[in-house]
Amino acid sequence: MEFDENASIDTSQVEDLRGSGGGGGIGGRVLLGGGGLGVVGVLIYFLLSQLGGTAVLPSGSGFDDVGSGQQLGSDSLQQKCRTGADANANQDCRAVAYINSIQNYWTDAFARSGRTYQVTRTDFFSGGVQTRCGNATSAAGPFYCPADRKVYIDLSFFTELRTRFGAQGGQFVEAYVLAHEYGHHVQNLLGTSDRVRTRSGANSDSVRLELQADCYAGVWAAHATSTPTSSGQPLITKITQDDINRALDAAARIGDDYIQSEIGGGRIDTTQFTHGSSAQRQKWFTTGIQSGDPARCDTFGARDLG
Ligand SMILES: [Zn+2]
Repeated sequence: MEFDENASIDTSQVEDLRGSGGGGGIGGRVLLGGGGLGVVGVLIYFLLSQLGGTAVLPSGSGFDDVGSGQQLGSDSLQQKCRTGADANANQDCRAVAYINSIQNYWTDAFARSGRTYQVTRTDFFSGGVQTRCGNATSAAGPFYCPADRKVYIDLSFFTELRTRFGAQGGQFVEAYVLAHEYGHHVQNLLGTSDRVRTRSGANSDSVRLELQADCYAGVWAAHATSTPTSSGQPLITKITQDDINRALDAAARIGDDYIQSEIGGGRIDTTQFTHGSSAQRQKWFTTGIQSGDPARCDTFGARDLG
């Protein structure tokens, strides 16, 4: 996957809340505090199940607040992320570029159907973060908070996907995860999120919402190389089959069945599904990328989710 070296990047869509001191210890402490392996597994399941979840996190849940300060100086996103060349070379800039591309696509798609897409920000954080949905730690994984309409991500999650979940990794995995989160923003704008009544189970509304977000991620991917940004040219010039395969691999590693059995070491219990099985997540991402049509992502109308 490649960015156009000369295309410009809009860093106003991201706020960097990471302090210079790092502060990564909090998620680890919570996990370690759980004790034995089984508990850690359960915790990880709970936390990871938030990946892209319309996270409703309890406030005052005992998580420490991490003081957040904007990064200033030469290392700030504004300073270091200016063009596609920077995105090719740097993970922070790459994430910003994906976010630009994703939101450009949805701006166009909404306009085509007579609607107005509202560009929203992603906050990069490290350790923990305060949101209008409550406080969260990095261990919660990336999430979208409907109340403040923002995406939150600790980019170290991508390392975790490889080390803890055994994903192949790769740059396009980052794109898939961010596009999934923005899929939740689209659902929020369209009012789809309000249709969620049942929060767990193989055919629950929660699973339908999550699979639709996977499908929307695929729809964006289908249009990524043809969506111009504000500079008039597409930011992304190339997505390979290997990129897509790696995104599919990541989708499988965060399926409910895989997490329950392979990560949690337990039995597969479909009544506890919140995001869909590995096969379903792959199926709906594929539906999105093959059709390029958001209308094909009607997981709420689908009798058979796959
Ligand atoms: Zn989600």
